[in-house]
Amino acid sequence: MNPFSNLGIRHDIVNAITELGFENPTPIQEQAIPVLLSGSNDFVGLAQTGTGKTAAFGLPLLELLDFEENYPQALILCPTRELCLQITNDMNNYAKNMKNVNVVAVYGGANISDQLRQIKRGVQIVVATPGRMLDIINRKAINFSQVGFVVLDEADEMLNMGFQEDIDSILSTTPEDKKTWLFSATMPSEVRRIAKKYMTDPFELTMGTKNTGNVNIEHEYYVVRARDKYAAFKRIVDFNPEIFGIVFCRTKIETQEIAESLIKDGYNADALHGDLSQQQRDKVMKRYRDRSLQLLIATDVAARGIDVNDVTHVINYSLPDELESYTHRSGRTGRAGKTGISIAIINSKEQGKIRQIERVLGKQFTKAEIPNGFDVCEKQLFALVHKVHNVEVNQEQIEQYIPRIMEEFKDLDKEEIVKRFASLEFNRFLEYYSKAPDLNASAHEERSGDRSDRGDRSFKSSVSAGYTRLFMNLGSVDDFTRGDMLGFICNNTKISGKSIGKIDLKGVFTFFEVENAFVDQVQQGFKSVDYQGRSVRIELAGDREGGSSERSGGNRERSSGGYKSREGGSGGGYRARTGGGSREGGGGFRDFSGKRREERSSGNREGGGGDRRRRN
Ligand code: AMP
Repeated sequence: MNPFSNLGIRHDIVNAITELGFENPTPIQEQAIPVLLSGSNDFVGLAQTGTGKTAAFGLPLLELLDFEENYPQALILCPTRELCLQITNDMNNYAKNMKNVNVVAVYGGANISDQLRQIKRGVQIVVATPGRMLDIINRKAINFSQVGFVVLDEADEMLNMGFQEDIDSILSTTPEDKKTWLFSATMPSEVRRIAKKYMTDPFELTMGTKNTGNVNIEHEYYVVRARDKYAAFKRIVDFNPEIFGIVFCRTKIETQEIAESLIKDGYNADALHGDLSQQQRDKVMKRYRDRSLQLLIATDVAARGIDVNDVTHVINYSLPDELESYTHRSGRTGRAGKTGISIAIINSKEQGKIRQIERVLGKQFTKAEIPNGFDVCEKQLFALVHKVHNVEVNQEQIEQYIPRIMEEFKDLDKEEIVKRFASLEFNRFLEYYSKAPDLNASAHEERSGDRSDRGDRSFKSSVSAGYTRLFMNLGSVDDFTRGDMLGFICNNTKISGKSIGKIDLKGVFTFFEVENAFVDQVQQGFKSVDYQGRSVRIELAGDREGGSSERSGGNRERSSGGYKSREGGSGGGYRARTGGGSREGGGGFRDFSGKRREERSSGNREGGGGDRRRRN
């Protein structure tokens, strides 16, 4: 008998989840489903994301609700739009073979009329983010008086995001005797308090030890000087040719600058942060899911609810301000039974924070060494060899060239050919990495003191003399060309184009130079300018180093609400990399806008490494 049937799940649901590849219940499903199926308990589950908790509460809901009736019977509250859509999608998949199941997703940043229409048509399960849910309740567009079950998913995240009051108001519209099921990755005192407030004698389930991170995740840290951080980060990436990672930064600015530098240096990367509209976020996420991006550079707020399996590495480019957030960050890897590595790149003063995180996690970090140049070369070389070994050969296309190729190689034996082909890449790596410095902080300890507090400026662009570099929160995905942008700036500020210097048009933002005398005029000019429903924001690029933390992002739904649809280029094919060397050749790479750039990267990949074009 199917193990899910043993837990009490009926056949049509079992068939649907079998198609999704669920053969055996995950530990949380095994323990939670029988309890929740009884329908008579409040419930608290301490579980990480990626453990299968959606099905743990979703399957019992499908068993418990009456789908002959078309009024709201279950409400699932979750912190983000992504998670909301994910849960809705999962519920629909589980219910694929059932009749008359209506699940509606209610979230901010999208057209409310569509959601109201769906609710009006009749719904049994509402999956919602708190801000928009409350909005709909206030419009008296939904009646929760017969709700039997409320699920609070990722409760700690909802509280972190400041949704406490909204949750209170929403729950006050549901019946006293409903059952409340709460899931949370961590159990800070605030979550304890809401558990106490809303529940009577809940059944508590802790997967693993309390606050213990996912057992499939290994935690490593590297100690480097702040000025070497970016170079060290790239070396770690180069040492992991197959990396598919999320890189966490503390500020929006940091995410933008790192993404910008990585793109310049030939990596497939993009930034995800709270300044993006939903459409922009969706686009970036689609490219990441499709693997058009290999590295997603994100803030904590933006990365909440991201549910992508197969993430190989989480990299803490900056440690989070709140150590609890580390658990959420690292939980983006090691999902669905896979293994993952969570890396922190820190300066020597931050080692105490690692000890604190170890206490929160109940798990030890391994102190790792930034690999030396030779190790990176070797790793890249064998990744290439492996790739060549496994490459799919297009017999039909290549056939016509084989005679000429064979003719060319006729005086070389197999070993000689292999050596030459390998040297083609290896020489390049060797040359690039031959003078690569030791980036471990320990290698510099005796030297002139750690400047760790200065921040890493190695990826900042130079500014022309007499000009100031400004930042604007619009870019090529907003359908600007460089010329459009020049016009946009001139029109709004009444400054002549001659006083505008370089314009670096990026995907979701732009850096541009203006003569020093006109900086105020630009800031004044854009003071209350809207572009397609979005306020235009201008900042001094120099100031942005310590930019605003997203940590206390408040109600994201509201801050991102009301944006109109803006179309930009859509994602495309993922250019497989064979390592640093190959990034220079071949088919270019994708920029923020998703349009293909054919020019080659001229980025200086690492401090002393030299311009990569010169190494050809
Ligand atoms: P969740 O924690 O609900 O976000 O689930 C994490 C991932 O695990 C999702 O991609 C699910 O589709 C998958 N998953 C959940 N339960 C199972 C299961 N019993 N067997 C295989 N995969 C599962």
